[in-house]
Amino acid sequence: MKKISVDALVIGAGFAGLYMLLKLRDRGLNVQVLEAAGDVGGTWYWNRYPGARCDVISVEYCYSFSKELQEEFKWPERYSGQPDILKYIQYTTEKFDLRKNIQFNTKVTDAIYNEDTQLWQVKTEEGQVFETTYFIMGTGCLSVPKEPDFKGIDSFNGEFYLTGKWPHNEVSFEGKRVAVIGTGSSGVQVIPEIAKKATHLTVLQRTPSYSIPGKNFPLDDTYLQDIYKRYDEIRHKAKTGTRGVGLTNVQGTGKSIKEFSREEAFKMMAETIEKGTSTLSSLFNDVKNDPEADQIIREFLYEMLDKIVKDPQTANLLKPNYPLLSKRYSLGLEYLETYNRDNVTLVDVLNDPIEEITPKGVKTKNTEYEFDMIVCATGFDGMTGAISKINIEGKNAVKLKSKWAAGPRAYLGLMSNGYPNMFTITGPGSPSILANAVMSIEQHVEWIDQCIQHMQTNNIAALEPKLEEENKWVQHVTDIAEPFFISKGNSWYLGGNIPGKPRVFMPYIGGLGAYTDICNTIAATGYQTFSKKTALMQTHK
Ligand code: NAP
Repeated sequence: MKKISVDALVIGAGFAGLYMLLKLRDRGLNVQVLEAAGDVGGTWYWNRYPGARCDVISVEYCYSFSKELQEEFKWPERYSGQPDILKYIQYTTEKFDLRKNIQFNTKVTDAIYNEDTQLWQVKTEEGQVFETTYFIMGTGCLSVPKEPDFKGIDSFNGEFYLTGKWPHNEVSFEGKRVAVIGTGSSGVQVIPEIAKKATHLTVLQRTPSYSIPGKNFPLDDTYLQDIYKRYDEIRHKAKTGTRGVGLTNVQGTGKSIKEFSREEAFKMMAETIEKGTSTLSSLFNDVKNDPEADQIIREFLYEMLDKIVKDPQTANLLKPNYPLLSKRYSLGLEYLETYNRDNVTLVDVLNDPIEEITPKGVKTKNTEYEFDMIVCATGFDGMTGAISKINIEGKNAVKLKSKWAAGPRAYLGLMSNGYPNMFTITGPGSPSILANAVMSIEQHVEWIDQCIQHMQTNNIAALEPKLEEENKWVQHVTDIAEPFFISKGNSWYLGGNIPGKPRVFMPYIGGLGAYTDICNTIAATGYQTFSKKTALMQTHK
């Protein structure tokens, strides 16, 4: 088989891979993108279930690198839906003529580093072999759905769907008895939409989610023109702040919630939600780690839930019993209200666990339910799922899987010692999904682009982080998360949802702005925390 030689091989054609392609192509490199799906979009290609949308405001959940693009694409809603996000990604692809460098329906199986040639050899399931100087993973943090492994799953006679791999054809719920398993962010979005159409919807809930009511509305030209005028300021705030957003930052009090009377604190939280912002956590400085503070915020949310959900038994079942900020909470658009519908039933599968899927439906310990359709919104193998699907071998043929057996070890979430010139966009150890993912991606892509430029101008053929620096970073990522609830919840942030996955808190909690400063300082001081091998530069045209 003839090897295809390129300068840079980018895996994935979502937000990350597309921008990486553009940057490196503009630098004059010969870049090839490989994408498993049939088209661009990444997570937005696969997650096309009804109700799918991003809970970061659309005018912020988009690239900032092109002023023209920012002002050309008209976002239709405050939180635009998946079809519009996908349209935006396709629009960007056409605008910058990216498609010609992307090969679709191509699954990468192996990536092997050759220390003699200082090149990566990358193989695909389809039998192709690529040779590349730079191997860049833009495979996303939430791209590999957790495959449900219920006993008897293949015996079900009805329709079965995974939200994370939703089919392209229209799925009809009309006249059907539908079950949804999973009440995380995906479940919270799909449940109201199915409820509107199905004859009956049964939600099989193991762990309730905190769902904070959000405000969505169509955007008119006046709104957009105002954003365009303020974009520079909004983006500056986003990139220098903690969460990668510039519009919805709550003006925090900088105080403990306990310094306020219960009435005052509840009023402030109610007003924040009323203004259309769900980040209550930013209002007070102790709700991320103080159980008493968390209790107050929880009581506020329980009270709100009791006002929305009419049946007290259902309302009680919907109340989470863990700290608000120990998991990702969801933006609810009609979510809680859905449980007031006559055609919706909430079933507690924590106390009456699912035992198996039968030809007719779902059997719990105590009951058998009959369904025409089962929808699993059961989550993802987050942050490392896509990387671990590829057999990656670095120096001395060490498999990344072995190196990461006790949890991912990466420097800045960007590179891993022993794997020269391999970059991970929003990899474990970076702020990635704890901030607006598009801002996290832009920062990583721009850093990688600068790093490659540095390598080229300094005749560096191989660059990798020093082991001691990587160890320090991994420890730092763990240490700064340690005081907070988020590092202890049983969430996908820690691999808590995947049986056998090591429990390690993976994202960097220090905030996008602070993290960017660290990355920029490393670049400005000549990448001293990296080992470099100088050799004749290999370029492939
Ligand atoms: P998730 O948060 O991991 O939720 C998975 C749900 O499935 C949980 O309720 C889980 O219950 C349940 N589940 C899993 N296995 C089960 C089993 N065997 N029996 C019963 N229930 C089971 O996954 P997700 O909802 O797809 O969200 C993942 C992440 O994607 C989010 O945190 C977010 O970052 C992102 N996302 C964002 C948006 C948005 O922007 N609004 C939308 C969708 C997704 P347990 O908790 O008991 O395990």
